[in-house]
Amino acid sequence: MATRYRCTACGNLTRFDVVVTRRTREFHHYSVGGELEVENTELLDETRDSVICRWCGHGDAVEETAPAPPGHADLA
Ligand SMILES: [Zn+2]
Repeated sequence: MATRYRCTACGNLTRFDVVVTRRTREFHHYSVGGELEVENTELLDETRDSVICRWCGHGDAVEETAPAPPGHADLA
């Protein structure tokens, strides 16, 4: 379930700039011709560096919200 955010300053629920640092292990599978196919990407570590509201231009009022219930339609 994806993390959801809310900007308490403007009420934005749908537009955020999220900067994330991910450390992953990948199985790199090369064909004899040297063509790479990445298989099995395993997430080892994930750090959220910043979440910024697209409307306010800062993340001062952004908070995490509980995941939406299944079937909930996004208010685009
Ligand atoms: Zn905002």
